[in-house]
Amino acid sequence: MNRISLSPAERSFRSKLALLAHDNWLLRGTLSVRPRKCGKPTCHCAHGELHSSLYLVQSHGGKPRQICIPKSWESRIRQAVTDYQELQRLIEEVSELEWKRMREKKMPGR
Ligand SMILES: [Zn+2]
Repeated sequence: MNRISLSPAERSFRSKLALLAHDNWLLRGTLSVRPRKCGKPTCHCAHGELHSSLYLVQSHGGKPRQICIPKSWESRIRQAVTDYQELQRLIEEVSELEWKRMREKKMPGR
């Protein structure tokens, strides 16, 4: 790719993109607090007082799936979900710029 043909704005998207992709955990999905039974027969949840647990929910191959997030992982997982969304947003911005270049028939030499 001919970097010189990129605008400063696009260069900035692309370097943010590269940083995110390089250093961060990335998780697609949404976080959702849901009631849960832990399975211990003596626990209060066995009598209807359910725990509220955080789940990461995503669609995978067209089917929804979810995983329970342990408390100690919560902040890392939240960050990974946010970073995934930010990465998607940046990719979309870059794609949009490519689209406009195509419309204007200004494809850079590759
Ligand atoms: Zn329980």
